[in-house]
Amino acid sequence: MDTIDNKEFEGIQKILDVIEKSDKHYDIEKIERAYLYAKALHEGQFRVSGEPYISHPIAVAEIVTSLGLDTDSICAAFLHDTVEDCPDKTNLDIIRSRFGDDVAMLVDGLTKMKVINVEDKEEQNMENIRKMLLAMSKDIRVIFIKLCDRLHNMRTLGVKKDHKRRITALETMHVYAPLAHRLGMQRIKQELENLALSYLDPIGYEEVSKDIEKKYGQNQNFIENTRAYVSEKLAEYHINFTLEGRVKTVYSIYRKMFKQSKSFDEIYDFYAIRIIVDTELECYTSLGIIHELFKSIPGRFKDYISTPKPNMYQSLHTTVIGRDGIPFEVQIRTRDMHHVAEYGIAAHWKYKSGEKSKEDIDKKLSWISKLIDTENAAIDTEDFMHALKIDIFSDETFVFTPKGDVIALPQGSTLIDFAYAIHSEIGNKMVGAKINGMIAPIDRVPQTGEIIEIITSSSSKGPSRDWLKIVKTSEARTKIRQWFKKEKKAENIRIGMAEIDKILAGFRIRPTDAQKQEIIAAASKRIGMKEPEDLFNAIGYNGVAMTKVISKIKSEYDRVVKPDEQVIPTEAEQVQTKPSKKIRSNSGIVVDGEYGCEVKFAKCCNPLPGDDIIGFVTKGYGISVHKCDCPNVLEGRKNPDNADRWIQCEWDNESVSSLDAGKSLYEVVLQVYAENDIMLIANVTTALADMKVSLLSINTKKRTDTDIIINLTVGCKNIEHYHSIISRLRAINHVHSITRGFS
Ligand code: MN
Repeated sequence: MDTIDNKEFEGIQKILDVIEKSDKHYDIEKIERAYLYAKALHEGQFRVSGEPYISHPIAVAEIVTSLGLDTDSICAAFLHDTVEDCPDKTNLDIIRSRFGDDVAMLVDGLTKMKVINVEDKEEQNMENIRKMLLAMSKDIRVIFIKLCDRLHNMRTLGVKKDHKRRITALETMHVYAPLAHRLGMQRIKQELENLALSYLDPIGYEEVSKDIEKKYGQNQNFIENTRAYVSEKLAEYHINFTLEGRVKTVYSIYRKMFKQSKSFDEIYDFYAIRIIVDTELECYTSLGIIHELFKSIPGRFKDYISTPKPNMYQSLHTTVIGRDGIPFEVQIRTRDMHHVAEYGIAAHWKYKSGEKSKEDIDKKLSWISKLIDTENAAIDTEDFMHALKIDIFSDETFVFTPKGDVIALPQGSTLIDFAYAIHSEIGNKMVGAKINGMIAPIDRVPQTGEIIEIITSSSSKGPSRDWLKIVKTSEARTKIRQWFKKEKKAENIRIGMAEIDKILAGFRIRPTDAQKQEIIAAASKRIGMKEPEDLFNAIGYNGVAMTKVISKIKSEYDRVVKPDEQVIPTEAEQVQTKPSKKIRSNSGIVVDGEYGCEVKFAKCCNPLPGDDIIGFVTKGYGISVHKCDCPNVLEGRKNPDNADRWIQCEWDNESVSSLDAGKSLYEVVLQVYAENDIMLIANVTTALADMKVSLLSINTKKRTDTDIIINLTVGCKNIEHYHSIISRLRAINHVHSITRGFS
């Protein structure tokens, strides 16, 4: 029987403990077999630290188990290094016969995921590497296990050689931590970042750690105390909430200090609490409660609920001063918003490039979300497996250059597309290609993970015209056309002339030479070519659609060759007789009777449709439109030097009303004078939400001990809309008055 040391025993025991406590089904016998098989294979191998090698797979399996992954993932974690490190004792086929297809597939995925060099790569290439890793691991479990493997390697990196350490830390920082982030594995992401930083910049890491210790060391229980206090107050308002607290990691503070060059004292969100509630209204109510309990730091309030971030993130953020004078950030959102915040980035990234429906992706991401929910480990593993086997990252192919750069190509791209994606000269001089070192036909579609080498020759005669039919990307097509346009003019012209002859030969009566010349000259002009030669050339290099050429030649033929019949006005003549279309400005402003002038709305008074307005001709920035009664106008018109720059303006009512609702919003600043009340902000924002008015910014200012001013910027359609908003806000309890614009 194999020997088992204490540490090993502890690791296995921890795995069994988690499994025992879980209500999911595990095949313990299979897990045990995987462990014993891995142990036998790695027998006699040691880590750099001197420990038996099996300690590493055990540790990885332990992390994998703690994430709530299934039996096959745990087995694969035990076996993940065996195929590569013990080639004389085992291989994928043996693993498949002992542990089944899934375990073999996972081990295979993990074995392949090793070859990437991130040194001196640009950010774009890093992004491609990340995407490629996702695409390569057809099953998302491969990535999860890989992240656990990396985490353990990072935890034990200290013993490795310096250069090797640096490379591993770089790769972790630029590839694996972002992947963990994208998959919503916040805890693993943070640990990876902190560990990587401690190797990449040990001095900076130490410095930040000391700052934290110095400033916050004595406040170990700050978050706990604050949570308890806030919970008690929220409970009084009968809000159904979840409260989370967090302390910022060394790495995230380091980033702020060094990337945004802030001093340690400028970091206000070292501590943060998050309040998750059921409804949007409760978000604002909670905000009111927080502002009542703590003094807020001006300029730190952000309403991402009314104005979501581009990645769909929604939340209210504010920073307040807690007891002991320690600032902390408060994030408030609904459970739905929280879900998007945790997994939305991955979702959004996919929406941009894929054709798959949102529901489809949500479904898949919800599996991921359940998987990483370690507090609530109830995952239906069976369903989970099937849902995630489908590759959700499949519309791009990622291939390597021989130098190890990763190139992303649209799915279905050929080797020719790849060559042109590298450089047009590579494409133009391409004579062949190799995939993973083997000669391959140039119209082959490469697969993710393959290494592509393009063979070029200086004696190449350039691309073939057939390539235009083979290539998938418009980039390659354009570059090939450009080459023909430039290099093969004589040949293009010959081809173009032959094509036109073919068209003319198809007509009933053959035109005379003179008629032919007339037809071609007229058709060329109508297609937008100066000379017939340009048209021939364009036909030759595929620079013009043949359907267009045929239709124009046909209509000119009809005009020129049938003099006896009634003259039908040509298309061109018809177009000319149409009345010219009135071009309307998209700003909705008529300046001195002219439409389409470049205008901008003055920020001092934010005019609305319906307001009396006047324009001021600026130097180089178009016409600035003000309200007639804007103080700046009243003042400005006193200056005789500028008298001729004031210009009459009016609203183009037709244009304003025809714009679609989303675009025809104008910013309006409102100042609400009110008596301070805990529900005030919630009431104001709810009223706006009820009216579907978009809130662009909100901040408050203390006026007296009892009174405050709320500055609101809202989106408003016109003056009537403005009046309806005002009268609704005036009806709110404690509101004294409302003024428009800044005072
Ligand atoms: Mn490993």
